[in-house]
Amino acid sequence: MALKEAMLYERLEGLKVRCNLCARRCLIVDGKLGFCRVRENRGGILYSLVYPRVCSYAIDPITKKPLAHFHPSASVFSLATVGCNFNCLFCDNWVISHAKDIRGDEIPPERIVRLAKDYGCEGISYTYTEPTIFFELAYETSRLAREEGLFNTFVTNGYMTPEAISTIAPYLDAATVDFKGSGEPQFYRKFMSVPSVEPIYEGLVEMRRHGIHLEITDLLVTKYGDSLESVRRLARWIRENLGPDIPFHILRFHPDFRLMDVPSTPIETLEKACEASREEGLHYVYIGNVPGHRYENTYCPSCGELVVGRFGFDITRWRLKEGNLCPKCGAKIAIIGR
Ligand code: SF4
Repeated sequence: MALKEAMLYERLEGLKVRCNLCARRCLIVDGKLGFCRVRENRGGILYSLVYPRVCSYAIDPITKKPLAHFHPSASVFSLATVGCNFNCLFCDNWVISHAKDIRGDEIPPERIVRLAKDYGCEGISYTYTEPTIFFELAYETSRLAREEGLFNTFVTNGYMTPEAISTIAPYLDAATVDFKGSGEPQFYRKFMSVPSVEPIYEGLVEMRRHGIHLEITDLLVTKYGDSLESVRRLARWIRENLGPDIPFHILRFHPDFRLMDVPSTPIETLEKACEASREEGLHYVYIGNVPGHRYENTYCPSCGELVVGRFGFDITRWRLKEGNLCPKCGAKIAIIGR
């Protein structure tokens, strides 16, 4: 298949280009790649090297993204290409996010949508690596998917430009935005090679403005990114800027990639972070990556009743009444669909 010209870039003098997909806004000279290593300037034209080279795909429960409040029983066709615009030293998908070569099967948008429908999925999730860097594939697939009655979700680090968000927004139904180390700037610089976290906050507000359903995760990295004060600050920011009903998932870190000598987050740290986030006013706070923990469940924020029971990615009890109301006090639970 011929190379795909990139979306959202500017041509500059001297055959240079500026990519405006993610907040890095790479300035790329002729013959060079952007930071993500999957967008190349050839003669003053920027190309996506990964369209439509799908390196991973699977049918996943939507709870795996995690999306706990958006059609929580749905399964989604999940896909990725190689590459990433971050450089996380603890990435659990490093084999594909840091791949040295462009690899994957050519699966064009029409076929992705067909596969999703054939497998009975209700939606498509652009995930595993950062969907911003395979934007052209995600955008074209999303448009087709919407026409076919499927929803679209991103699992993203949130480092998108406002232009990228407004371009995908008409087709994007939900996004899981992943923080690590509670979004502390020095953690992002040292462990992820990300110069500034501000674009993530701006992107969240922008996505909210476009009416995209949001859920936020925070990976607590033992010792380096697990400060309770930082979790509180992030939880407070979410409540003040996005509202108390945004689901907030506190994720357990497991040793991976270049941080193999850092132990898993202690359960007690996760529990304290969860409780502190509730104290900051968030209604739905979860612990992730700890199957069977009581904080995987959804509790009614009004009366404390357990309304949805979970074990890992499975929903084990669904006690909500029609309209997603609490069976005990009748309060509306902020869950879309079933
Ligand atoms: S998407 Fe890639 S090339 Fe574009 S600005 Fe981000 S890192 Fe640079």
